[in-house]
Amino acid sequence: ARVSDSTLLGGLDADQRAAAELTDGPSLIIAGPGTGKTRTLTHKIAHLVTACGVPAQQCLAITFTRRAAEEMAERLGALVPEHAAKLTIATFHSLGVRILREHHALVGLTSRFCIADEAAQLAVLTELLEDEKAAKRALSELSALPADAELADRYTKALRAKDLVDFDELIALPVRLLESSPEVATLYRERFQWISVDEYQDVDETQYRLLRLLAPENGNLTAIGDPDQAIYRFRGADVGFFLRFQQDYPGARTVQLTRNYRSGPHILAGAVQAITPTTLVPGRELTPAGHHPEPALIGLHHATDEHGEAAFVARTIDQLLGGSSFHSLDSGRVTGDGSQGLGFADFAVLYRTDAQAKAIMEALTRAGVPFQKRSHDRLADRPGVREIVRELHFEGTSGSVIERIHQAATPEAHAAIDLLAPLARRCGDDIERFRTEIALGAEVDTWDPKADLVTLLTLHAAKGLEFPVVFMVGCEDGLLPMRWPGAEPDQEEENEERRLFFVGMTRAQRHLYLSHAAQRVRQGSSRPMPPSPFLSDLDSDVVERIGDAQPPRRKATQLRLL
Ligand code: ATP
Ligand code: MG
Repeated sequence: ARVSDSTLLGGLDADQRAAAELTDGPSLIIAGPGTGKTRTLTHKIAHLVTACGVPAQQCLAITFTRRAAEEMAERLGALVPEHAAKLTIATFHSLGVRILREHHALVGLTSRFCIADEAAQLAVLTELLEDEKAAKRALSELSALPADAELADRYTKALRAKDLVDFDELIALPVRLLESSPEVATLYRERFQWISVDEYQDVDETQYRLLRLLAPENGNLTAIGDPDQAIYRFRGADVGFFLRFQQDYPGARTVQLTRNYRSGPHILAGAVQAITPTTLVPGRELTPAGHHPEPALIGLHHATDEHGEAAFVARTIDQLLGGSSFHSLDSGRVTGDGSQGLGFADFAVLYRTDAQAKAIMEALTRAGVPFQKRSHDRLADRPGVREIVRELHFEGTSGSVIERIHQAATPEAHAAIDLLAPLARRCGDDIERFRTEIALGAEVDTWDPKADLVTLLTLHAAKGLEFPVVFMVGCEDGLLPMRWPGAEPDQEEENEERRLFFVGMTRAQRHLYLSHAAQRVRQGSSRPMPPSPFLSDLDSDVVERIGDAQPPRRKATQLRLL
């Protein structure tokens, strides 16, 4: 059954609806975490293709990660099933690949070009420099500017001769193509007349240039984001592009969303206190929406070391799930409803560096708490995967990707096949998509958001997500903010770390625990760790120090709102 349009926008509040209804011309949605930006964007696209009669194939939505693109596709599949397949929901990289595939000859590639992974890049450079060590050095220098221009040129030519493009070129080459060929640019402008970009605060210069080429000054471009959640500066992202949107698109209309649907009021108040000293959106409002009858304070735990911290996490999860020793702090008695309706999937443990996961996993295992860790290992780096992908070139020309993998693999390659199966199934018959995803660095994808397991993930990977209970571990000076032992503090870097802290806090819906350890092993030796300076920006009336695994007090009366 077709969802009526009133239902489509009915899931939005008045401000969100106004944002979704700004269909013509450029617009900027600037709003804090949990205000429904992603939800509004999804509904806006649904509204465009139903109420506004915009052909779905003219809509392009750009998201930050493949995972986010899949999620949006899934939601639109439910909202507007008859249009969903015709929408283009892409990441910048997958969009770049698509443009290159469609115009390969113009950039000196064949239709079967491949994306060079690091091994292939290194092989090309080793051939050029006849020295593997020098090649390794050159590879790290090529991605950082300024590079040796002559070498860069020879490297690019060598890639092209092998029908390869490297990862950085996936966006840079389409930019050059559209700049030098106005007919091609016009083609895409006509094809994608309705463009929206989520997480716009984290675009880098090349991505920005691609958007400028795709969306003219008066084009239907919707940029959505939150400057205070810009966390990819180290990768070249520049929040300045967000901040100058009005200059780039002079007629742009701006909408602010101020109601946070995600977090309890104390969590939200604490998050705002944490970001205020360096906010890029001065004077911004962010108030809790929804009903929070007994909102929890932010729990602050001081541990002796990383193992004590991990044990705290494990015990707290057990107790919130109604473990036998669960006591309500208010009454001191065992509560009848210890679990508060929570399951393992409602918990996430967020950390700054992957190395912190080890102690947590050990403690959860010991406590019998099932978990899944979001891996950042590339599929392509797992044994056997490259061989299968290479064979796919030759083996079988029809059938689904998963069938073709079975044809192409050596019989003992079970492990590799299992790793590839989820991606292969998502790709159906589309072998090009499958190869592209692998080359784009698809990660070992064992994270299943629907499984009843506690999730462990880095703060960066948590962007855009939400969980009822969040532990942010390692809130220590030198870890969050991150600084190499012995390095001087850098103000810009520290501001970005503060934004990361803000992103982490605002993932929490009902409970947020911040923990820090007095000492932890870093780079092989145990070091004293002072608490994170960000903690001292939290008002004492939103946090509660908790000694051991206990839920922080819940206050029946809402404290002052923001
Ligand atoms: P972030 O900055 O973290 O990416 P966001 O602004 O994109 O956050 P969403 O993820 O879209 O926020 O929404 C946050 C949560 O609030 C989601 O669970 C969403 O379903 C819910 N939500 C948003 N708007 C509404 C609404 N009008 N009514 C009910 N729930 C809403
Ligand atoms: Mg979002």
